This record gives sequence, structure tokens and C-alpha cells, in this order.
Amino acid sequence: MKLHFPNSYAEIELSTITKNLRELRKRTSAEKILSVVKCNAYGHGAVRVARQAEPDVDWFGVASVDEAIELRMGGIKKSILVFEVPSVRTAAAYQTHGLNASVSDLTHFSILMDGTKYHLNFDTGMNRLGFSPSQATEVRKMAVANQRLICSGIYSHYSMADDPGSDKVDKQLKKFKDVIKHFEEVPLVHICNTGGAVHYDLEPFDMVRTGLTQLGYAAGRVQPDWLEPVLTWKSKVVQVRKIQKGDSVSYGGTWTASKECYIGSIPVGYGDGVPRSLSNKLKVSVNGEMYPVVGNVTMDNIMINLGDSKIQAESEATILGADAWDASKWAEEAGSNVHEILTGLSGRMARNYTDY
Ligand SMILES: *Cc1c(COP(=O)(O)O)cnc(C)c1O
Repeated sequence: MKLHFPNSYAEIELSTITKNLRELRKRTSAEKILSVVKCNAYGHGAVRVARQAEPDVDWFGVASVDEAIELRMGGIKKSILVFEVPSVRTAAAYQTHGLNASVSDLTHFSILMDGTKYHLNFDTGMNRLGFSPSQATEVRKMAVANQRLICSGIYSHYSMADDPGSDKVDKQLKKFKDVIKHFEEVPLVHICNTGGAVHYDLEPFDMVRTGLTQLGYAAGRVQPDWLEPVLTWKSKVVQVRKIQKGDSVSYGGTWTASKECYIGSIPVGYGDGVPRSLSNKLKVSVNGEMYPVVGNVTMDNIMINLGDSKIQAESEATILGADAWDASKWAEEAGSNVHEILTGLSGRMARNYTDY
């Protein structure tokens, strides 16, 4: 939908993407960085984020062929790795748009078209996509027999690197090392996601894959101070009303005023990405003061308790980022993760790009 009169907007400071990537570059011993811009760059706008990141990264990663085509149409020239499973439907598009496929099943060797580049994907413990390490010998034979295709890399994916201190990470790394012994001539080896790159001091091989760091977040609970969030979500208080002791607010009446107070309504809700689980939990910032959301988050509005302050309607409210809670705090309070919070910010908000 084209927004003529948006009720909220995300301020996306593009130069901060560059800053975050350069900070990461200083801290990783991997030679290359793959910027993950799947799901519209976690809600930040895939083409805009990719254009900003392109000078500072080596590869891009996306979940689907459609997302890769969007990048190509937006003028992105660098190599793109597609994580999804290739199919007869998508096979030709890898060739047309110069995309690297992820090969994770023996059938993929016959599905892809002549000259297609691909990375082998091995599953070392995520149990999602990828060959089993026990198939390494067989996969090698297929790769060698299929010289019509070009093997440009090999990778795996950590399942428990989002927070520090997991021994599953070491187990996966060990399995991966055993697998890559079979593929010594493959030019690009990678396994680290944001968590692996930021929270662990691991052999990163040739490349780290990261979606979150460029946007200013680490995965999981620990946020390093060298990252700066790129997105701030703002709206405004559109109505202020006085309520009496005993009055309840919103659907279900989950909050009741213990004394007379002012309630401000802000036109963002779960339809815009405020999880309903943040009802009676979230705090937002108005005029530099934090105010609690009271009552259930509705589809289109949240209500905040202003106490005694009868603030002006039309006052600007910061919902996420800057002087309000960042996405990491949202995730913690909502029992979610930063990825889900950010990708949930969609639909009805305008995106204003600044400072590029
Ligand atoms: C989503 C994804 C990533 C990026 O995850 P972050 O936590 O943002 O670093 C990396 N690799 C693969 C295969 C992915 O699916």
C-alpha cells in the first residue's frame, strides 16, 4: 500500500550501516563478509541496505530467489548466495540473474542448469537444510562428476551461537572441519552467523555471514557496545484523555487505573509490529520521558499512562530505538529474538532514509 499519510515512520540512518560493518571488519579475522539482507533486510529495506553495504562487503545472502532478483533489479552487482532449496521452478533464475544456489540434496545436482554456481550446504547440527556430514564422500563424487556446475563455496550454519558459552558450537565446528577435509579445493568456506562472529572466538574460515551486525545488533541477549542500531521507530500521541480511578483501558480490561490519570493513544499496534505480548510491559518515550503502555496492545493503537502530565496531542513518540527501548530489550521482554522483532516491523510504517 502506498502511504500518503503514514501514522508512524522508521528513521533508518544508512551511514550507521557502514560504521557497523567497519567495526565488524576490525574484529573478524575472516577475509570476507556476507551481508544477509533476507526478509527485506529484516524490515529495513533490502535494496537500500544492500546498496549502502555493498562497498564494505563481499557477498550478499538472501532466503529466496525472489529476494535475490529484487537485489539485482535494484542494481546490486556483488555475488549473491540464495539459502533456499533450488527447485525445477527456480533453476533457470539462478542462471538468468547470476545467483549462487545452495545445494543440499543429491537431486539438486541434476535440477540446476549448466554453468550455475553453487555452495554446498552441510547440516552439522541445525537439522534444517543441508547434507548430512556422513554423505561427504558421496557428495564429493557428485560434485566432481557434475563439472557442468561450478562449486564456488561450502558452508554450514550454527544453531546455538546467538548467546555465548554453548558447547554445541564446538561440536558443530568439529563436524564441519571433518566435512571440509573432503573439499579442499573449494574456494570459499563459511559457517559463522552473527552470533558465531560476535560471541565466539572461532576459526571463521574465509567469510562470516551476518544480517544483524550491520543493523546494529548482535544476536541473543548480549549487545556489544561497538554496535549502533540503525533504525528508530517514531509515531505520535494522537489523543489524550483523562480517566478516573477504576476505569480500565483497552480490550479485556487487563489494566485498571488506581487513580485519576491521563491516557495517551499512539496509532501503532500489533498490525505494525508491536507484539501483543508487550501489553502492559512496553515503555515508549515522549518528550524524553518514558511512559508505560497500559492495557492490551490493539491492532492499530497502544495506550500509554501519562500520569499527571497532560501532554500535547501531536507530541512525538519514540516507540523503538534512540531514547526508547531498543529491539534487543523488546525481544527480551516479549520472549522473542531481535530478528523476529525487526522483521515484524512492516506494513504500515513509512521508511525515511537519512544520512547516506
Ligand atoms: C539468516 C541467516 C544468517 C544470518 O543470521 P544473523 O543472525 O542475522 O547473522 C546467516 N546464515 C544463514 C544460512 C541464514 O539463514
